[in-house]
Amino acid sequence: MNYTDGYTKTCGLIGNPVKHTMSPLIHNSLASLTGINMVYVPFEVKEKELKNAVNGAIALDIQGMNVTIPYKTDVIPFLEDVDPLAKAIGAVNTLVRTKNGGFKGYNTDMTGLFHAMQDEGIELKDKTVVILGAGGVARPTAFLCANKGAKKVYLLNRTYEKAVDVAREVNEALESFDIGEKVVPMKLEDYTKILDTNEHFIAIQCTSVGLFPDVNSAVIEDKEFYKNVSSAMDLVYRPLETKFLKLARRAGAKTFSGLKMLLYQGIDAYELWNQDEGVKISKEQADEIYRSLMLDVAGATNIILEGFMGSGKSTVSELLADRLRMELIDTDAVIEETEGRSINEIFETDGENSFRDMETELLDAICSDHWREFVISLGGGMPVREENRALLRKIGKVVFLKASPETIFERVKNDNNRPLLKDPDPQAKIIKMLADRISFYEDVADIVVDTDNKTPEEITAEIIEKLGL
Ligand code: NAP
Repeated sequence: MNYTDGYTKTCGLIGNPVKHTMSPLIHNSLASLTGINMVYVPFEVKEKELKNAVNGAIALDIQGMNVTIPYKTDVIPFLEDVDPLAKAIGAVNTLVRTKNGGFKGYNTDMTGLFHAMQDEGIELKDKTVVILGAGGVARPTAFLCANKGAKKVYLLNRTYEKAVDVAREVNEALESFDIGEKVVPMKLEDYTKILDTNEHFIAIQCTSVGLFPDVNSAVIEDKEFYKNVSSAMDLVYRPLETKFLKLARRAGAKTFSGLKMLLYQGIDAYELWNQDEGVKISKEQADEIYRSLMLDVAGATNIILEGFMGSGKSTVSELLADRLRMELIDTDAVIEETEGRSINEIFETDGENSFRDMETELLDAICSDHWREFVISLGGGMPVREENRALLRKIGKVVFLKASPETIFERVKNDNNRPLLKDPDPQAKIIKMLADRISFYEDVADIVVDTDNKTPEEITAEIIEKLGL
């Protein structure tokens, strides 16, 4: 929660709708990371109220604004000044207060997309780019690609006339920057003509097709299209892997969601609002915000490691929490601490059932108190109860660390603190218990990671990769 007082700098977002925006998460987290006394608030503005909203923001001494759909172009007449790049593409998404008390408009969608591409290692120089869509975000995307050295930019749109208009306007803007005409408008269905050239290209998906809940659609469904795609970026980031990205990945392309663009357009805006304080966001800070965005979009609020004893949960959860800079909860340790006795003692005095009740109670508390962004190392028997599995599904992404009975026996044979292994034939007990539990582990798992013959570091890296973190 950001601290506010009479000195708090206020920034915000105007648009319609704004209810599902992720910008407050970005900016309020940045404020807390950089120690700036600032809050960020979304404002839903009705169409007729745009001018009043801008003047009202000035009157209320609001220091910075983001502008989103449908006002990125309409807001320009109400600004004191516009940055030349934003003027060239005819759209702004960031307003910064001027010395005279008005607002100057910038386009950090474009700079954000460029930073995201740099971060992902997408090189535009001398490349052919195919942009799908000719709406608000396709325009800065086309300008950026041409301005950063792409050889040719094809702009494909369902409504051909719009592609023609946008291509003409972007080519005119490029001319004012002494760059030749590079943007070629096309009808969406004419993509086959590009395939005929046999050239490999970067494909950037700028339509709203595939956006949640329309997750089973791609603007081009033909698998042939994806064969020549070297890199594919979808500016839609909800879901993280759209159908367009799935098709591209399956055809062998490198794929990137639009979430990094969202991150960097926010970071660029934040730096503009705080330029007098000399604020520059480091890569580590950017990565930290990105992880929160990923967790938010993926709907995973926690990462939960489950598996049989000896599967590596404790070591791997520590490494994972360290790598992701998340806090760690070990459910066995929490129960031992709250009870003031060891699990061995709880088993001996109260019996296994009481211990299982304590586990359920703890999961219930995590769920109802909305604990977020923890790595949770789970007691080995927790997923056996159905009600526990239902709770686990609610609180995060579950990772099943799988190990063979032989590996488990090797890892735990000298450990005397395992009450369930106090058996004349522990190896046979492991085989039986594992057979009894495996279907429960698999049932609740979002991902499964085989841990046999792997180091804890390798397992950690595999989890991060599989969860796309
Ligand atoms: P927009 O101005 O409304 O443009 C929508 C585009 O999608 C138009 O080209 C439209 O074609 C096309 N389209 C819509 N439905 C279609 C369909 N069924 N078949 C074929 N084409 C279709 O929206 P925008 O501002 O450009 O944003 C587009 C998407 O980009 C948004 O959904 C948003 O998720 C994403 N975005 C992401 C970021 C980020 O930071 N990652 C930033 C901005 C936007 P017509 O012209 O034929 O209607």
